[in-house]
Amino acid sequence: MKVAVFSAKCYDRNFLNAANAAAGHQLAYFDVPLDLDTVALAVGYDAVCIFVNDKADADVLKALAGGGARLVALRCTGFNNVDLKAAAQFGLKVARVVSYSPYSVAEHAVALLLAINRKIHRAYNRTRDSNFALDGLMGFDLHGKTVAVVGTGKIGRVFARIMLGFGCEVIGYDKYPSPEFEIFGARYAEPREIGARADIISLHCPLTPETHHIVNADTLARVKRGALLVNTSRGGLVDTEAAIEALKSKQLGGLAIDVYEQEADLFFRDLSSTIIPDDVLQRLISFPNVIVTGHQAFFTQEAIATISKTTINSVTEFATGQPLSNEIKAS
Ligand code: NAD
Repeated sequence: MKVAVFSAKCYDRNFLNAANAAAGHQLAYFDVPLDLDTVALAVGYDAVCIFVNDKADADVLKALAGGGARLVALRCTGFNNVDLKAAAQFGLKVARVVSYSPYSVAEHAVALLLAINRKIHRAYNRTRDSNFALDGLMGFDLHGKTVAVVGTGKIGRVFARIMLGFGCEVIGYDKYPSPEFEIFGARYAEPREIGARADIISLHCPLTPETHHIVNADTLARVKRGALLVNTSRGGLVDTEAAIEALKSKQLGGLAIDVYEQEADLFFRDLSSTIIPDDVLQRLISFPNVIVTGHQAFFTQEAIATISKTTINSVTEFATGQPLSNEIKAS
């Protein structure tokens, strides 16, 4: 199969080429994201392979189908950037990577939590300047604190287990609770209890119309004063302007995010020599109690290797007429 790979970085090429060695598909790499301006690059390809910030809305999907594509292979878990109804309408199958390494994302969430609580980002900068003063670096013991996990799927459950290992009380909320969450000693709680009791809230649910801005001015007003918020899921879960107000009023004690609602035009590229036009992100970065990483939670060797193998496997399944093990359809 001829596959157009969009938003391709050198690590994508290396890992996809390795995964494709036996399968022998023709992979063409484009470093630009897929959108209406770039979709013409896919004309003549049987499949496109896309990532989190590529745009596969109805117009793009129609153009893809018109150019001969029949498969959209996502090399990620979340699929909020694909209009699944439109894909079905235009005869395109869609596959994703259901699971690669929940550890990669959960461990990054823990790293962000430890860093924001113990001010590692500030200490790192200080000691490089021979400033060994401790003022402003005080954190709190995680042991004994209450951690709320919103979305207790694969990643949320790994995160919960790590937090239990720290001696935290772990409570969770999920629209579809799973007994697996409670096996190791965590328990489910209502949103009201989460707001009242959680010292730390970590988001692990998908971005859907229902979860868009679940963290907003209203919900932030109901969290425990000084709580830390960690978001490694999708930027659209958090109303960033409301979070900024909550940081200014100290209602939120700290924010650590790997995802940002307007990240599509910013993340995964080096903009260090340009003027960033996004004032909201710039304001966010100016807080001493905010850490932003650029959507790197998934970025471990194990995760990328599995993502690449699964993606190539989806292409092979499609090419050989087998059912797609990781197909997603509009519900
Ligand atoms: P998963 O499907 O295993 O778990 C998601 C959980 O969210 C499920 O238990 C589901 O029932 C729950 N959920 C759905 N709607 C909800 C709602 N309205 N309220 C509360 N919970 C709800 O997915 P996962 O593998 O654990 O991944 C979770 C999310 O992590 C993905 O959707 C993706 O957005 C994000 N992610 C981020 C990165 C990164 O690099 N930052 C990498 C992979 C995944």
